[in-house]
Amino acid sequence: MHEMSIALSIIDAVAAKAEEEHAKKVNGIELEVGKLAGVEVGSLKFCFSAAAKGTIAEGAALDIREIQPVGVCSECGRRFSMNFYYSTCDSCGSFKTDLVSGRELLIKSIILEE
Ligand SMILES: [Zn+2]
Repeated sequence: MHEMSIALSIIDAVAAKAEEEHAKKVNGIELEVGKLAGVEVGSLKFCFSAAAKGTIAEGAALDIREIQPVGVCSECGRRFSMNFYYSTCDSCGSFKTDLVSGRELLIKSIILEE
């Protein structure tokens, strides 16, 4: 499962950080997930809590913020919110648009217990 491998890599990153900071426990993790990242938020939360069992991140609250994708038109330069990978420009109708954001999956912050 896609979400399970993401959950495992989040736990790896968080565990490394917690070790670096000599933390006892991870209390919370703030994530930013682009709506076009192909991640199902409910499924990611479920996988995370299952995968975190027995690790330093067990019981940590996963706070997921979904990011609205933004595209830019290479014809007229307009920036607009995108709902699909290939959206036409909402100003000039051009197909030459690029996704600027919306595919990211970032750990914004980690709340550690010292
Ligand atoms: Zn345009």
